[in-house]
Amino acid sequence: RGSRVSGCGSASFYSCGPRVCIVGSGPAGFYTAQHLIKVCPVLLVFLSKGSRSYLQTSFQSFATTMKSFYICGFFFICPPSQARQDVEVDIYERLPVPFGLVRFGVAPDHPEVKNVINTFTQTANHSRCSFYGNVNVGKDVSVEELQRAYHAVVLSYGAEGNRRLGVPGEDLAGVYSARDFVGWYNGLPSCRELSPDLSCETAVILGQGNVALDVARVLLSPINMLKKTDVTQPALEALAESQVRRVLIVGRRGPIQVACTIKELREMVNLPGTRPEMVAADFEGVTEALKDVPRPRKRLTELMLKTALEIPGEKEQQRRSMASRTWGFRFFRNPVEVLADPGSNRTAGVRLAVNRLEGSGEGGRAVLTGEVEDVSCGLVINSIGYKSLPIDPSVPFDSRRAVVPNNMGRVQQATGLYCSGWLKTGPTGVIATTMNNSFDTARSVVEDMDSGTLDVSAAKSGSQTISALLEERGVKPVTFSDWEKINHAEMRKGEAVGKPREKLLTVEEMLQVARA
Ligand code: FAD
Repeated sequence: RGSRVSGCGSASFYSCGPRVCIVGSGPAGFYTAQHLIKVCPVLLVFLSKGSRSYLQTSFQSFATTMKSFYICGFFFICPPSQARQDVEVDIYERLPVPFGLVRFGVAPDHPEVKNVINTFTQTANHSRCSFYGNVNVGKDVSVEELQRAYHAVVLSYGAEGNRRLGVPGEDLAGVYSARDFVGWYNGLPSCRELSPDLSCETAVILGQGNVALDVARVLLSPINMLKKTDVTQPALEALAESQVRRVLIVGRRGPIQVACTIKELREMVNLPGTRPEMVAADFEGVTEALKDVPRPRKRLTELMLKTALEIPGEKEQQRRSMASRTWGFRFFRNPVEVLADPGSNRTAGVRLAVNRLEGSGEGGRAVLTGEVEDVSCGLVINSIGYKSLPIDPSVPFDSRRAVVPNNMGRVQQATGLYCSGWLKTGPTGVIATTMNNSFDTARSVVEDMDSGTLDVSAAKSGSQTISALLEERGVKPVTFSDWEKINHAEMRKGEAVGKPREKLLTVEEMLQVARA
């Protein structure tokens, strides 16, 4: 691709299809692209075997299934908002490697979550999709330049910033953002030098979401478990030497308000070599309050109650008595200061304000009691959330909410500009949530093309102009087949040591392999 010259009209040197540019190749970028190019109608085939009917929606498995089933009916569905077969999509990504937080966020011991990469790869290999890695939008090329070259620009560059605690001492040595800590063990090039000091016994994680539990699990997992994952070699070596034996996971509110999900909690409860260390008093009144909460929350809280209060069976007791590492939630606490070791700039603990809960259920509010409590620790990880950052002054940005203000993905007061993913919604939700909101944005783009709100009548130059600009500026993009070279090199390196992959850790190394 790159020279989509066609004879579709005298004024048009370029191909006639609408050209859409996507900024960022995380789940939001790929799901938006997938929905924009997935325009071929879906074939629904009703199959019959004996008295049962089955619904088959994919062409791929159709042929094999045909051998044992009878077709009893079929029809095509083609929703009106997807009825275009001409949209061409270019994805621009800052790093030489795609997939955003699926590569750099998702925990190394959750390889099944990373299977979405297979779908993203199919999208990237579609004839109407191209990938340009190693292009930092806002720096190498401006959003206005992209808007001139494309009919529509979708910003999907995620939430790369970190919410600060806003308390004294948060810049002391030994305090890390979860973003950096996760980036370090997952091989994010900018976090390579983090080298967190793991020589202390107690670590405090501030925040009780799934990211906090991922970090706690990685800190406490037996090294033999981590060795089989794609955790980076330097992180593996540091974790093997780690002295951390106790991890406290601190939250402002109570057990009914934690932000983690049951899968992550169950993994903590069953983590080999560890035992839970909870405070029974935190669970007063929780059983009674449970009857009014939704079912998933109820199941999560019941697991917590069981872990905290029930006397375990013999086998579990034995397991716990042999454990050398502990973890626990600390509820109704929020940090007011990170305490320094006297005479050094290292952290020695955290001062926590003690809260009480006002109201009940998921909406209960933390209210200060005026009491404080000090917890000694040598490692503090701030896991209170990510936040999006502005990348280009021409793009409207709501600094208070740290999102691009939008209506169903249409950036307010900016025709032709859209957003999806965490940049659109704020940094909440899982990949499936991101998928849905990205599909919504793609639907808005296609609706605007169909209704004429977005003028796609004149041909646009797309990547031809942008590639020329990048060349002038000395920026060499990485194509998807270049990425596949990196991918193979990483898998080969991993195979040699029994890991699914050994990630390349610097942009320079990645570019070297891509260009070999
Ligand atoms: P991102 O995934 O962050 O993608 C943004 C992309 O934009 C990145 O590739 C970035 O390099 C690129 N970019 C940034 N700036 C620029 C620029 N200027 N120019 C060009 N490109 C740019 N969800 C699950 O379902 N399961 C899990 O197990 C899970 N684990 C998680 C663990 C962590 C630590 C975190 C933080 C999140 C996790 N999530 C998980 C949530 C999931 O990762 C998000 O829902 C999803 O990644 C959001 O997608 P996104 O595309 O908006 O952002």
